[in-house]
Amino acid sequence: MSQYVLPDLPYDYAALEPAITGEILELHHSKHHAAYVKGANDTLERLAETREKDDFSGLVGLEKTFAFNLSGHVLHTMFWDNLSPDGGGRPDGELAAAITEHFGSFDAFAKQLTAATAGVQGSGWGVLAWEPLSQRLIVEQVYDHHGNVGMNTTPVLVFDAWEHAYYLQYRNVRPDYVQKLWTLVDWADVTRRFDAARAGATGLIAPSK
Ligand code: MN
Repeated sequence: MSQYVLPDLPYDYAALEPAITGEILELHHSKHHAAYVKGANDTLERLAETREKDDFSGLVGLEKTFAFNLSGHVLHTMFWDNLSPDGGGRPDGELAAAITEHFGSFDAFAKQLTAATAGVQGSGWGVLAWEPLSQRLIVEQVYDHHGNVGMNTTPVLVFDAWEHAYYLQYRNVRPDYVQKLWTLVDWADVTRRFDAARAGATGLIAPSK
């Protein structure tokens, strides 16, 4: 039985045009995200075989592969819900107040997340996360899917900076793609995750749409 399942997108593949083309979104979801789901499930099976055979000689590689694929599945599942054809603008309420408190202003936060996303060396993500120890919002620059992350932080808004997310449309100009991502942000979804994270719940709560 598969532990992880590729979720349907909450909108059509062409729904985020012109910011993201339908061709990119279909490949991204049906090929790239699907590969992480398969990778996580396959690695779980190999871990089970490892235990059955009582041969842990390959464990280090399996643990690394599992972290990579599971984190890829988690981040993409969030990414789709963080975006909306009706997105853009700015948050309000307690999320807006927290952003101002922890970053100085919305503009300063947006510049930091934009720079974190556009400046990833290689493949990675820009992430707005809740850090529960100091009870604050932080920006993280994630490498691959799971590197450079503060332990126990909960992502609430994730920007995919892998070339597969934009290269067919934006070529080498990643900053232009990141600017367009801001026009798609579903602040209601981000707010829901922010509220859940502050309450101590997992960030990967059930999709809202
Ligand atoms: Mn991706």
